[in-house]
Amino acid sequence: MNIKFSTLTVALASVFVLGSCGSSAEGETNAVENEVAEVQEELNIYTDRHYEVDRVLYDLFEAETGIKVNILPGNPEELLSRMKNEGDRGFADIYFTADVARLYQAQAAGFFQNSSSAVLDSIIPSYLREENGQWYGLTKRARIIAYAKDRVDTSMLSTYEDLANAKWKGKIAVRASNNVYNQSLLASIIANDGEEAALAWATAVVANMYQAPSGNDRDQVKAVFAEKADLAIVNTYYVGKLLNSEDPLEKEAGESVNIYFPNQSGRGTHINISGLGILNGAKNAENAMKLIEFLAQEKAQEQLAEANYEFPVNKNVPASQLVQSWGTFKEDTLSLQTIGELNATAIQLFDKAGWK
Ligand code: FE
Repeated sequence: MNIKFSTLTVALASVFVLGSCGSSAEGETNAVENEVAEVQEELNIYTDRHYEVDRVLYDLFEAETGIKVNILPGNPEELLSRMKNEGDRGFADIYFTADVARLYQAQAAGFFQNSSSAVLDSIIPSYLREENGQWYGLTKRARIIAYAKDRVDTSMLSTYEDLANAKWKGKIAVRASNNVYNQSLLASIIANDGEEAALAWATAVVANMYQAPSGNDRDQVKAVFAEKADLAIVNTYYVGKLLNSEDPLEKEAGESVNIYFPNQSGRGTHINISGLGILNGAKNAENAMKLIEFLAQEKAQEQLAEANYEFPVNKNVPASQLVQSWGTFKEDTLSLQTIGELNATAIQLFDKAGWK
């Protein structure tokens, strides 16, 4: 048998082994497998996620499959411009990022290729992935209201729309509009309420802010803890990070708030994803798909859920104890593809609303 293994992936090679040799040629099969094992299969990832659990999972994948995972970390701007400059001659097979707006940016720029996987289609609900398999959501985060336990009664809370109410004047803490989490939230409001209502909403929320936006999501919760504001609009996992922080002040800040899931009697709470897609120039596309499938399955999903206080996309995997303690909630199942498409409009509306 004369096969050029350097151009075959392990996946294809093992299909070949099963298909052409079968059990009648045991010795030959072993020889082929040994030869496959010697080939250093690899996979290259651009990632703007900076979570330790990712490396742990790559190592696990490496140990299971023999496929070496190389990562090139960077911030989204760097990575997107790198992908643009490199075109199909790029280093990476996968782009992994936190927020659908980034995934959509990469998709719109033509960086991703179509893909298909029965495994992923069965695990990941359709609103959390691109219809042609350009990208897949792997973990979910909800953008919620963290409210001061001692100053806000839940009877005062209801929807994102209600944050525009003058009763919240000077009480809302939320970060700047150049942040993609806010852009995706506003995109969801545009999709649900229309552009005009979304602009009116953003304008009214600006009027209700305790100060012009600054800092990240954690800082918004800290502002509530410091009694500068009563509500913070943040992603769920930041509350988890604060509660588990080694800094006692951060811990206290986390303990000073409760989580409220807005819009429960209507469309549900806005959710976003960390997700990834296979790049056009991928030299290891089959390996890339293997990794995505690995990350969507139970073992990896359990670790992702445990490490970062996110919600697993795999419904067979429970959220971490802490995340479960926040209670179950209804998710807005608006397609994240739609949220990506509305990103540019959201940015324009933020500008018009004067949201810094
Ligand atoms: Fe984040």
